[in-house]
Amino acid sequence: MSASAARHRDAPGRWSAALIDLADLVLARTCAGCGTGRTRWCPGCATHLGDPPRRRDLGTLSVWSTASYAGPVQTALVAWKDRDRPDLTPVLAAALGRAARCALSEIASDDAVERAVVAALVIVPARSSASDRRARGRHPVRDLARDAAVGLSRRGTVARVLPVLRQRRGVRDQSGLDARERAVNLSGALWVPPGWRGRLVGRPCLLVDDVVTTGATLLEAARVLRDAGAGPVVAATVAATELRRPPDLAGAVRRAD
Ligand SMILES: [Zn+2]
Repeated sequence: MSASAARHRDAPGRWSAALIDLADLVLARTCAGCGTGRTRWCPGCATHLGDPPRRRDLGTLSVWSTASYAGPVQTALVAWKDRDRPDLTPVLAAALGRAARCALSEIASDDAVERAVVAALVIVPARSSASDRRARGRHPVRDLARDAAVGLSRRGTVARVLPVLRQRRGVRDQSGLDARERAVNLSGALWVPPGWRGRLVGRPCLLVDDVVTTGATLLEAARVLRDAGAGPVVAATVAATELRRPPDLAGAVRRAD
């Protein structure tokens, strides 16, 4: 692409960035990470999303994450998901996109899979419960997935967001449960309705969520996608909690089955 064409292509991005900066000033937004300044996400907090993405091996699933779930990143994610900061979605989606590219490079190890990833990637938001959606009045993780899909498409990967995961039964609130209890709580709780399965068969899938804690939700979601006929499945999140010892969640789910 010529320099001139590149400038034209980037012009809308520069205009939208300028409008966002203006909106931050007019609305007197403060940084969602540290509460200072008149910007949604200050340069100091941005350094917490700047590290190379890291991989967590959950046995049957790789999860790539850009940041540790701590400090300003944790504060910002809570504000984005549970309070009134949907304006952070582009910031978080950019971080998610970096983790996603690492995850996709892992499964695109041969030419056929790489072609499939570039041409027909499916991005699946991790399920959020109906009560969560009612409380928030929006689908934060789905919004995040859509922004990440736009970012991947700009880099040449045709990605479609398909919210295919449905809850088959009620589950307990996950907070307060340990890794094994979470795995048992979620085992068999998700499904893909038959009408969606044809759009998954053989296609590479990227599961996305804001935070991975024990990995129980993502593991169960990956298992359900594979059962529905999906191709290779990997996962990406904005942030990851630090675990002292990786749990044997795959084993816990098998036993619960
Ligand atoms: Zn800040």
